[in-house]
Amino acid sequence: AFDVLVIGGGPAGGAAAIYTARKGIRTGIAAERFGGQVLDTMAIENFISVPHTEGPKLAAELERHVRDYDVDIMNLQRADKLIPAASEGGLHEVVFESGASLKARTIILSTGARWRQMNVPGEDTYKNKGVAYCPHCDGPLYKGKRVAVIGGGNSGVEAAIDLAGIVAHVTLVEYDSDLRADAVLQRKLASLSNVRIITSALTTEVHGDGDRVTGLSYRDRNHDTMHQVELEGIFVQIGLVPNTEWLRDAIALTPRGEIEIDHRGHTSQPGIFAAGDATTVPFKQIVIAMGEGSKAGLSAFDYLIRMPAE
Ligand code: FAD
Repeated sequence: AFDVLVIGGGPAGGAAAIYTARKGIRTGIAAERFGGQVLDTMAIENFISVPHTEGPKLAAELERHVRDYDVDIMNLQRADKLIPAASEGGLHEVVFESGASLKARTIILSTGARWRQMNVPGEDTYKNKGVAYCPHCDGPLYKGKRVAVIGGGNSGVEAAIDLAGIVAHVTLVEYDSDLRADAVLQRKLASLSNVRIITSALTTEVHGDGDRVTGLSYRDRNHDTMHQVELEGIFVQIGLVPNTEWLRDAIALTPRGEIEIDHRGHTSQPGIFAAGDATTVPFKQIVIAMGEGSKAGLSAFDYLIRMPAE
């Protein structure tokens, strides 16, 4: 059995594995796709102390760093079930889709999250070419340009307020007849002169010139009419879904599916820790996921040294 078994090979899982391996304890890491969301990212300009890198390059460096240590890497393994130890100090078990199963004295869950997509024509074609999901990451690339934010919940309205300070103009497109964000955010948004809010609007297509986004189409749901908006960027903010469906029966999740953790990365089960985008940690970013993963790794070590000797 492993001392520490990390599930998920993104920035959080990679950091956790490096921290525990450096303690000389037996560490394994299993991931469906080593690298995680970083693999889908082009320019990264907020990975502090590295002014510019690219997702696939950072993912390769993350893997190389983990391989510097004695870590069992099991790539292309999708975890399907977590069976926590029956009594404190016992072994936890993770069952994979392949039918294989692994046991460990501690587990670190770092399965990340995925952005909900609009699933309209053009969205995939222009991903990273005008279609973006992370205002903290890509906002500055649209300085002086026109963008849309899709979604009028808290994250959409926060994104619109954030972007309005950077870009020339923001169009907020909401499907419902009202925005769903907190009133204080809505008031702030309404006070901004370079923001237009369109409600009861279903985005139907992303337009581009082959290289970049040039606009979007939406259907006015009240009048059943079609409209186009010319712009250079579209930030989709209709939800970030944690990859935690498989954990529902094993540990405490929030109604949105985030793993509940405390400030040390403990979950509701002793000996099971979690880090990164899959958890309740606010602000889903690479540097934050790495910090949280390191913290979860140290917490797992802290837990192990308190276990009675076998
Ligand atoms: P993830 O990166 O999501 O990794 C999760 C890992 O778990 C993966 O290995 C995955 O395959 C694995 N996994 C999932 N489910 C299972 C399962 N059931 N069994 C086994 N393994 C599983 N952040 C920035 O700081 N700067 C940026 O510029 C930036 N740009 C971004 C651009 C895009 C397009 C996207 C999508 C995200 C961007 N982010 C950016 C956010 C950043 O990528 C995430 O915050 C970060 O990757 C989270 O790390 P994580 O390790 O928690 O999760």
